[in-house]
Parts: sequence; structure tokens; C-alpha cells
Amino acid sequence: MEIQHFAYSGKLSFREADGEIECVGCQDVINGPAYISEEDNFAMHKVCAEMPPQIQKDAFHPHPLKFKLIDVIVCDACSRLLFSYISYRCMYCDFNIDFRCAKAIINDENNIEKRDDEDLQRTRTLHFCHPHQLTRCKVSPMTEFGEDMIENIWEPNKLKCVACKWKLQDTQTFMCLPCKFIIHESCMNDLPMQVQSSLFHPHHILHPRPFFNAGGEVRCYACRKKVNGFSFYCNKCDVDLHVSCAKYRTRATKHSCHPHNLLQLGKSIIKGISCCACGRKNYNDSLFSCRKCDFNVHPKCIPLPSSFEHKRHLHSLALVSPFAEDDSEDYYCDMCETERNPEIHVYYCVECNYIAHIDCVLSEVRQPQ
Ligand SMILES: [Zn+2]
Ligand SMILES: [Zn+2]
Ligand SMILES: [Zn+2]
Ligand SMILES: [Zn+2]
Ligand SMILES: [Zn+2]
Ligand SMILES: [Zn+2]
Ligand SMILES: [Zn+2]
Ligand SMILES: [Zn+2]
Repeated sequence: MEIQHFAYSGKLSFREADGEIECVGCQDVINGPAYISEEDNFAMHKVCAEMPPQIQKDAFHPHPLKFKLIDVIVCDACSRLLFSYISYRCMYCDFNIDFRCAKAIINDENNIEKRDDEDLQRTRTLHFCHPHQLTRCKVSPMTEFGEDMIENIWEPNKLKCVACKWKLQDTQTFMCLPCKFIIHESCMNDLPMQVQSSLFHPHHILHPRPFFNAGGEVRCYACRKKVNGFSFYCNKCDVDLHVSCAKYRTRATKHSCHPHNLLQLGKSIIKGISCCACGRKNYNDSLFSCRKCDFNVHPKCIPLPSSFEHKRHLHSLALVSPFAEDDSEDYYCDMCETERNPEIHVYYCVECNYIAHIDCVLSEVRQPQ
């Protein structure tokens, strides 16, 4: 049995798959006989292949929805951002649904709720971080394949939050699809209207600067990496900083290896910066850094005791690399009881889960130099 499908130029035959293969429609694994191409790995479940090229379900949406091939969409039924080989798009308004939701609508499954204009309006918002309307969506659950496809289509933009630069899996976000602008909902709500005394540009107030399709490349003054979509900006000095770089907080320490104060910088800043002592660019490390002299060095590459007895603490303390001990968002130094940057090296006692700033520990061991 052979068929011609609207989403495929060749012929599909109904047969068992040779190995594990996914349906291009619902993206689930295929078990048993299905419509499979003889030429490439295009394959569809029987029920999926029987989906029509156009859907008209007035109870769900008042206009006809037509199939669209290979697209990144935010589904207006399930509010997920996803890569779809086949999705359905309204011929009259900005309304999209992914293949699975379309299937559920065709089958009248009642887990798909109709969304009227008011519902849709609730998922859209305006915010000072972007000049266009943002849509609330989730990047989840998604296969690695889907993630790679989106990043390929979005190149050079990445599937990362413009504010914190972290991945978006399974979190609520707001996005502008045409601009490939995406931000965690929590990061958006935490965005300040200005940043004062930023570590890397302390003397002027930094203001929000939304931009898109910017001509030329915008580089962050702190980490020297590209900035996409949004920055904190000093208009006196024409300086841009990532949100996370503008808000970066860390310790300054004095050490005999360098005449100036050294900042302890973690992985969100140091990517691509090499150590003056060993020459390596370790991503998951931290650096002591003097920005003025471009002097950067790993804590393990300068004379720091790696493990020793301490009079304030019973057990020996060991120098350990950045780690987060739990999911709580607050990190403290057990010695001075002030906040601690979870990206930088600390002294640690395994037995007591005692964690302290390097400089807090050293100041008690020897005279500061
Ligand atoms: Zn399927
Ligand atoms: Zn419509
Ligand atoms: Zn974020
Ligand atoms: Zn936009
Ligand atoms: Zn930066
Ligand atoms: Zn300035
Ligand atoms: Zn220096
Ligand atoms: Zn401390």
C-alpha cells in the first residue's frame, strides 16, 4: 500500500520500520507498521498521516488552519515553543498550533481548551526589555533534536535567556519569535530599571537598552562576549553589559602575585580568558583577575594553601572549585556570614558542610600582604 502525503514529495509505503524511527508528525517513536519512505527517514504513524492538510473546527478557532512545514512556533493551544516539521497556521490571524495539539483537536479530545481572544491576550505582554509584544511560553518538554533544530534555524541566536544566559528547559519564559528574543519570566520580573555601581563600570548609572537586528556586533564590556537583544548601557561611555554581567557581585582580594586588588570571577564571566600561569582556559573554574592589567590566574595556580588546619574551625579546610551545595538560591560564607558568589572557589569542610570565602579564611591565617 503506497500513498502520497502533502508534506512529502516522494511516495510512502505502509510497512514495518527497519530500526527505531520517529514520526515526523507527532514526534513519537513508531512501533509496528507505518507509512515510511524508501529514500530517507521520513515516516509517519497511520493516524498521523491521515491528518488533513487543513483544519476547520469552529469550536476551537473561527478560521481555517492550514499546514505549514518546518517552522519554529509557539503553539497557541499548549503554549510551548517548539520545532515542528508539520504545524498548522491560521490563514487570517497570528495563530499557530503544533501537530499533537492539532491531532487532539481533530479527535475532539477535551484536554484541549478553546482559547478566545481574551485568553490569548493574557499570554501576551509588553515590557521595557523589548520593543514588541512578548508571548508567554514554555520550552518544554523538548527533545535534544528539537533543540538543535531551533538553534540551527535561529543561528547565531541561541536558546538561552537574554538576561541570565542559562538554558530555558522546563521554565516559563516570554519571547518575541520574529526577533528570536527570549527571557525567563522570573528574570524579566527581576530586571531593574537601572544598575548602579556595577562592578565592571562603577562610576556611571547603567540603563536598559533593548535592541534587535542591531547592525554590527555588540560586545559585553565585562566578559567580551556577544550581547543579543538586551543590555545595560552607559550612554556617556558607549558601554554595553549583559544583564548578568552588569549585576555581577564578587569579592576583591589582595594577593602577593599582583600589585592590584584581584576580583574573583566565576564561569559566567571567564569563558575564553586564559590563565597567565598555566595558559589554560578552564570553563568550569574561577579566576583571580585584574581587569586593568588583563592579569588572570586560577586559584590553584598561585600560592594558596590547598588544605590546612584552621583555628576557627576544628577540621581541615580544603580549597574546592565552584559548586552549589543545594538548590537554595542563597549562598553564604559561614565565616563572615555575608553573601557568597556560588561561582568562585571557596574553602570547604566536608564533615560540617562548612564553606568560607578564600579571603575570610586567609585573613585569619596570615597577615594580608
Ligand atoms: Zn505520529
Ligand atoms: Zn484565526
Ligand atoms: Zn534567565
Ligand atoms: Zn521583537
Ligand atoms: Zn557579559
Ligand atoms: Zn560610563
Ligand atoms: Zn593589575
Ligand atoms: Zn566570608
